[in-house]
Amino acid sequence: MLIDTHCHLDPEYFPEGADEALSRAHSAGVTGFVCIGVGSVVQARSAVGIARRRPDVWATLGVHPHDAASYDAALEAELVALAAGPRVGAVGEVGLDFHYDHSPRARQAEVFRRFIQLARQLAKPLVIHTRSAPDETLRILTEENARDVGGIIHCFSEDKPFAERALDLGFYLSFSGIVTFKRSLAIQEVAAWAPAERILVETDSPYLAPVPLRGKRCEPAYVLHTARCVAELRGVGLEELARQTSQNAARLLGVSAVLN
Ligand SMILES: [Zn+2]
Ligand SMILES: [Zn+2]
Repeated sequence: MLIDTHCHLDPEYFPEGADEALSRAHSAGVTGFVCIGVGSVVQARSAVGIARRRPDVWATLGVHPHDAASYDAALEAELVALAAGPRVGAVGEVGLDFHYDHSPRARQAEVFRRFIQLARQLAKPLVIHTRSAPDETLRILTEENARDVGGIIHCFSEDKPFAERALDLGFYLSFSGIVTFKRSLAIQEVAAWAPAERILVETDSPYLAPVPLRGKRCEPAYVLHTARCVAELRGVGLEELARQTSQNAARLLGVSAVLN
């Protein structure tokens, strides 16, 4: 049984409905899901809505660095109210994206710091999105005492020195379809080496479909391919990898794979 610890299930990505995608995932042995509610309060409500009606889904809420420019006190109040309720396992994804720069960098940093403070108030772990901003990300996590709650470096795409520092801060490393790409040698090195009790797997649906489905719309069922790749890199069986990553997700997020 596998848990996809990071999927976006909004209707714009899955017009056929999240339930359809999740039943295909169950057929593939993927039975637990962390659904990300970012973008606006509509997406946040949608993620929490799915998590409250399905026993196999948990939500996490935040403001993606892409959307930092549109963040305001009203949105924060809505998100905090939802995040304090049931079925919300973490705060995020939040962080820095200096690759796309969809929001000004100073604003991204400000919102990122704010959410680390909120996560500490709510006593929930963080889901971190970081792209082309490794040093700034680690500096903010350190300065804001993110260690108190820990969390996940989602869609891990940095190198071993970054991984070592993130692990020191109490973070888990979550591998997406990127780890299956031929050229991802640095990421594969980390996936092979990282401590077993600190690794997770995810799809980041609808993006980043793993090999051999690269280029297709990604969906939670495909986490199986990523898990198989990580298991091979580590020289363990798929079952062992699934058991370990599910245990890790349960410990950190309070989620569990659901039998049905
Ligand atoms: Zn992300
Ligand atoms: Zn995401």
